Amino acid sequence: MLFNRALVLFSGGQDSTTCLAWALDRYAHVETIGFDYGQKHHVELNARQVVLQSIKNKFPAWAARLGADHMIDLGALGKISDTALTRDSAIKMTVAGLPNTFVPGRNLLFLTLAASVGYRRDLSVMVGGMCETDFSGYPDCRDDTIKAQQVAVSLGMGQRFTFETPLMWIDKAETWALAHRLGGDALTKIILEDSHTCYHGVRERMHSWGYGCGECPACELRKAGYQRWVESVAA
Ligand code: ZN
Repeated sequence: MLFNRALVLFSGGQDSTTCLAWALDRYAHVETIGFDYGQKHHVELNARQVVLQSIKNKFPAWAARLGADHMIDLGALGKISDTALTRDSAIKMTVAGLPNTFVPGRNLLFLTLAASVGYRRDLSVMVGGMCETDFSGYPDCRDDTIKAQQVAVSLGMGQRFTFETPLMWIDKAETWALAHRLGGDALTKIILEDSHTCYHGVRERMHSWGYGCGECPACELRKAGYQRWVESVAA
């Protein structure tokens, strides 16, 4: 198996769009995978296609490396998860100290399924936007979790996989800086206008940091990160 072929966990959000650019900058062939588990922000899944098309339009060199997009129906995950993303309940902290947007073990499942697809398509590098810095306490975003999963999946499939997490140790402001380093203003414009992060799926109003309700935890992180990045560039 070649180690220059990657599969990016791509949701259409800011983080996974940055991960996609990171992979396109580095690997000869890049495919994308998305999961539909009945999330309330279905608008994010629609954003996937818009972002992919914009990248193809604006970055011809990357377009030549960008291969198939895989969409996996994970309705079962929505059924076994009682969370604010998949049910009409308010986003709040649970007694365990986690926001109830948490779908238990979600990333473990995503990485395993991605590797299954990768196995069949000769893609040995899985790229995900997991991050310990702004991770809201999700244990399946931790570096140790991902490394353990890389070992388990490689052993379980009898095939060496590498799980890359370029955002693991950077915050949201540094994620903007990374995107700008990779694709300049053209890429940050795509992320601002086409990517979607808001938990409530709000896209009515464009803010300086993109579309969203401006109040949910995802919007607050995105907004604060963007403002810190703009200030750091101006400084
Ligand atoms: Zn929001």
